[in-house]
Order: sequence, then C-alpha cells, then structure tokens
Amino acid sequence: MNILPPEPTDPILEEAIRGRRIAPSEALKLMDSADPLKLIAAAREIRRRNNDPAVVTYTMFRIINYTTFCDVNCYFCSYHEPIGSPAGVVLSVEEIVQKMRAAVVLGADQMFLQGGVNPGIPFDYYVEVVRTVKAVFGPQLHVRAFSPSEILGMVRLTGMPLRKVVRELKNAGVDSVPGAGAEILSDRMRALLSPRKLSVSDWVRVMQMCHEEGLPGSANIVFGSQETTEEIIEHLKIVRDLQDRTGGFLAFIPWTFQKQTDRFYVRSVPAMEYLRVLAICRIFLDNISHVEASIMVLGRDTGSLALQAGADDISSVVIEENVLTSHGPGTEEKAREFIRESGFHPRKRDLLYRLIPE
Ligand code: SF4
Repeated sequence: MNILPPEPTDPILEEAIRGRRIAPSEALKLMDSADPLKLIAAAREIRRRNNDPAVVTYTMFRIINYTTFCDVNCYFCSYHEPIGSPAGVVLSVEEIVQKMRAAVVLGADQMFLQGGVNPGIPFDYYVEVVRTVKAVFGPQLHVRAFSPSEILGMVRLTGMPLRKVVRELKNAGVDSVPGAGAEILSDRMRALLSPRKLSVSDWVRVMQMCHEEGLPGSANIVFGSQETTEEIIEHLKIVRDLQDRTGGFLAFIPWTFQKQTDRFYVRSVPAMEYLRVLAICRIFLDNISHVEASIMVLGRDTGSLALQAGADDISSVVIEENVLTSHGPGTEEKAREFIRESGFHPRKRDLLYRLIPE
C-alpha cells in the first residue's frame, strides 16, 4: 500500500509534455526551481515523442582544420595563431585531400572543414577546396563547412554580398554548415569572449541566409562561464525563433566551455547543472528534432545520464589525426558499445540525420 501522498505535478511540465510551447518566462522558472527529476522525466518524455525511444544515433566524420591563423582572437581559444605567426598553418588543397583519403579508408564519408578567420586566404581557396574534394570523393561525400564567423570573414574579404558568398559555397559543394561560433548569443558575453567575435545579429543573419540558400546545420550553446540563466534562455529563444522562420536546424547541441587559456573564466559545470540545461533545451526547443550530448566532452557517466535527460544522439565519432595513426578503426565500435551499455540500440546516421541502413 502506498502511504505517501501523490507527488505534486508541475503544471508547466505537464503542459509541455502535452505539446504546449513554453514561454521564456516559464523556462526561466523551470531552470531556477523545477524539481530536477521531474524536469529530466519531462525532457525524456518529449524526446520519446520526437524520435525512436529505443534508438540513440551517432555519426562518423573527419574533421579537417584547414588553417590555424585567426584574427578574431577569442579569449577562450588556444587553437588559433595570430596572423603572421611562424607557427600558423594553411593546408594546401592536396593536403586536405590526403587527410580525407585516410579517413575514407576507415569508413568516413563525411567531412567537416573548419578553420580560423584568416584574411590571408583568398575566396577562391574555399571554393577550390570544396570542389576538389567533391570531384575526388564523389558527390555522396557530405561536406559540412564554414561557421558563421568564417563566412562573415569571407564577406569582409571579398566585399561580396552575403547571399552571393553563401550561394557560391553551396554551388562549390558545401552541403551543410556547423553551429560553431554561437557560444552564448548575448552581446554582453560576446564582449567577454572576444570584442572581435561576430555579434548576435550577425550570427542570426548568416545562419538565416545559409538556411534560406539550402544549407541546413546544427545550433550550439556553450555555457559554463559568467553567463546568467536569463542569457541561456535568451539564447534558446533566438534559436527557436530562427527555426520558426527557416526550419534549417537539424539538431541542437549544448556544450560546456573547456579550460584552454587563462584569458577567459571557465568554471567546472556539475553534472546535474549540465543535465538541467540539457533538459530545458529539449523541452524549450519544440521545433528542433534532435538534441545531442557529446560524450567526448561529457565523459561516459554524465553522457549516459544525458541519454535519459532528453538527448537522442551522442554527437560524432570524430576521426582525428591520432586516431588515424595510433588507434585504428576501434572508435566506432566503442561508440556503439557505449550506447548499448546505456540501454539503447545504436544507429549510425549521416550529417542530415538520415539513418544509415544496418
Ligand atoms: S573564431 Fe574560432 S579559431 Fe578564431 S579565435 Fe575564435 S574560436 Fe578560435
């Protein structure tokens, strides 16, 4: 016999489960005071409605950083080299093809091209890289390339209208765009990240143009610095509004800042805080089908919990240089094993979220 009184229900969560869109003020309330277990249970329920509850997906691609030079100088980033530094790199088209060839041998049929914002690279380089890669590996190789920061850099370099730049990249063979560079969509936080980082309105403008021109992609949030809860909800609202206009976001990925430098404050995010934000993302973004949780960043324990808190994808198996040279093709099997151990059936997908036949 149950001698405990019934658990009081949370009316906002009940309505969200029934399919009502929640307002930013309600999301704020949930962030501040919702019972974490109820929040997670609601996110899980909504995830079940969006995708197959028994399946967790992953994908596999090669990430190629074509240049380490960057003039944006984000304070959190240890990757970039100042323009003119002897340590900076720009890969040739041939080097990029070589790197991709090694990944194709391991089963990757998707590439991710990403670099700094390098005013020393002519626009023709980007077009030639993508055209050559498509010519060598065929049109079926999916090319996800160039964040809004990089695209805006190309606009500034060439003086061409944004639409023309995006169209030329698409015509060259770019299939989709990454969500990188969003971090926190708050101009206050962006001033702390880097005064040269593209503004919120520029990020929205470039993303909207990409979607309008037929380049879908993902959206991210990166938190774990000095952002406020209001700024996190504002970020989600900007993404949801843009998605209402374009439908171009295939997935949303919450990340946490990783400590790379001493120039930007990064705090340690407890697992429960991460899960709370993840659950809010799943509940609030009612117009985005997939929410990813990157086990590369979270680790296995929190990653496994994230799959119970609204995430339906473990993000990507990224084939890095060291994987190619030292570990061999074991990485995909490890991802599948992790998903099975978390209680789900693993399915490989492509960057457009289409399941790959088993
Ligand atoms: S724009 Fe990208 S590469 Fe450049 S500094 Fe910022 S994070 Fe680093």
